[in-house]
This record gives sequence, structure tokens and C-alpha cells, in this order.
Amino acid sequence: MLLAENLTADVHDVVIIGSGPAGYTAAVYASRANLNPILFTSSVEAGGELMNTTDVENYPGFPEGIMGPELMGHFEAQARRFGTDVQYEDVTELDLNVQPKRITLADGTIHQARAVILATGSKYRELGLAGESALVGKGVSWCATCDGFFFRDQPLAVVGGGDSAMEEALFLTKFASKVYVIHRRDELRASQIMADRALANEKIEFIWNSAVTAINGDTKVESLDVENIVDGTTSTLDVNGVFIAIGSDPRTDLVKDQLDIDETDGTIVVQEPSTATKIPGVFAAGDVVDGKYRQAITAAGMGAKAAIDVEDFLG
Ligand SMILES: Cc1cc2nc3c(=O)[nH]c(=O)nc-3n(C[C@H](O)[C@H](O)[C@H](O)COP(=O)(O)OP(=O)(O)OC[C@H]3O[C@@H](n4cnc5c(N)ncnc54)[C@H](O)[C@@H]3O)c2cc1C
Repeated sequence: MLLAENLTADVHDVVIIGSGPAGYTAAVYASRANLNPILFTSSVEAGGELMNTTDVENYPGFPEGIMGPELMGHFEAQARRFGTDVQYEDVTELDLNVQPKRITLADGTIHQARAVILATGSKYRELGLAGESALVGKGVSWCATCDGFFFRDQPLAVVGGGDSAMEEALFLTKFASKVYVIHRRDELRASQIMADRALANEKIEFIWNSAVTAINGDTKVESLDVENIVDGTTSTLDVNGVFIAIGSDPRTDLVKDQLDIDETDGTIVVQEPSTATKIPGVFAAGDVVDGKYRQAITAAGMGAKAAIDVEDFLG
């Protein structure tokens, strides 16, 4: 039932925004605690980042590995099994400073909830090249921890010059025959210690002042076109994988004027070890609060914590 202003009559115990590992795990815990959660998935990106990948080999419980979309199907089914109301809707506005909190959807409907869990994830920055989206999971990756293992004894490239690019490159040296680091400048942005480690590693070769202009391959990555942005010369680099490490943007648009945002990595600030934000009744979990680990299992773990924190708050 709708009241004036498209306001729904019910006040939910908890609304969960986001349908990645964090959101669905929060939903499993909240529904098993009889909090009758309602979860908004987003209309076009339901299931989160793992919908864009193929094999997930590091999520415990699946010894043979599992395809990303299949794993997220299991997450959703488990949340529904305990009564979560899953809705394929976009949240467009949040008013967190009132009690109950107001959650506005794209069609104008306004829901009310005593508690809100933000699990909106983070968007990895892309290079914006044609081959990029077509070859995701086929050599284009944003996660060395997730995908490095697939490239034993093969040449790889990392794009970027910050700490995360150095971390990715160093991690990949455990598997790859060689790792090229392609960076737009002639010096690294990474911290000195990370830069020194990468510069000293014999498997890593730096390609300075350069940008990737094309990712080539029909069914998997075969090579990259690279342009030197100082002298304009171009070259082709034969690699089987490219790891893009040029940063990520936590999805905080809905809340950045209401909650504290970390200046360094753009994540929502929570009162660790809990998932509580500075507004009572508002909790955040997963990659939207995590500038470091960014794994499905860590997001799921935070989702569980958020639901338990909501239970304590409402109790
Ligand atoms: C290509 C790729 C491969 C990866 N492979 C692995 C792997 O093998 N193993 C691993 O552990 N990790 C992997 N990761 C990392 C992993 O996907 C993330 O760490 C994890 O998905 C984060 O979960 P999350 O729930 O925080 O956010 P996400 O999975 O990003 O989910 C957030 C969800 O919230 C939704 N949302 C955002 N805003 C709104 C809104 N306003 N209204 C409604 N919904 C909204 C989004 O659309 C999205 O569905 C990979 C990442 C990528 C990009």
C-alpha cells in the first residue's frame, strides 16, 4: 500500500542495498534472524562484480571452482530461502538522518526502514578500450589474487603505477614467466618500499611513459598495442593477460553527503571492528568500505557482520 508521496505504509526492520556477496550474505543472516529484510539488487547489475567473471576458484566450499554467475545464483537462492524479499530495483536517493530512514527507488516509491545496510560495492576503473569488456575473464582482469593462478609460465602485463599495481605485479611474478608494468609516467606513484621491491624484481620489466591503446585477441588476450606518450612510437607486446590496476571507485554517490568518506581511497568510514557508520542504524559492508582486500569472501564476511550489527542495534 502506498501513502502520500509514494511512501509505503510498512516500516521494514532492515533494507539492504546491493546484491553482491556482502548484500546477499547480510540478507541470509538478517532473514534467519527474523528481520524480514528487503534487498534492492539494482536493475541492471544484479549479482555484483562476480557476474562479470568466469571461474571463481578461491571461494571456499567449491573445491572444483564455480562460475561467477552460478555462485551469485546460489547466494540469491539462499537469501530467498529464508524469506528475503529480493527486488530488482535501483535505489536513487537515501535520507539516513531521519528515523525511520527513507529509501527512494527509481520509480519514485519510498520505503522506510529502521536500519539500512549499504553493500553497493566498488567499480574498478577501466581503460575504456574496445577489447577490454569483450575479453573480461579471458585474459583481462582486475584481480591478480583471483586470476593470477590461471597464467602459470605465461607473459603478463600490469597497467598502473600505484601501490596496488605494484602489489599485483609482485604477486603475479609467482606464476608468470614475465610481468611488464606499463605506466603513463617515468616514475611510480607507489610508496617507496613497494616501488623498490618491484624495481628489484628480475621478472618485472617497466615500460615507462606509455599507455595501452588496444587489447588484441579474438577469444583470449594475445597482445597489447602500446604507445609511448612522449615520442609517439608504438609497439606490440605479446602477453596472455593484462591486469588493470588504475584504481577503483567505491559506489558512495547515494551517501557521500551524509556519511564520512575516507579521503585516501573513497570508501565509507565504519567504526571497525563493527560495520556501523557514524549514523545510528546505518551499516556498510563489502568493497564499499574496503580499500584493501576486495575479495568475495571478505565482502561476504562483512555482510554477515553487518546483519549481526543490525540485530544488536534493533535489539
Ligand atoms: C572481473 C572480476 C573478477 C573477480 N574475481 C574474483 C574472484 O575470483 N574471487 C574473489 O574473491 N573476488 C573476485 N573479484 C572481486 C569480487 O567480485 C568483489 O570483491 C566482490 O564482488 C565485492 O562484493 P560486494 O558485495 O562488496 O560488491 P559487488 O559485488 O560490487 O556488488 C554490489 C552490488 O550493489 C549494487 N548497487 C550499487 N548501487 C546500487 C543502488 N543504488 N541500488 C541498488 N543496487 C546497487 C551493484 O549494482 C552491485 O550489484 C572479482 C572482481 C572482478 C571485477
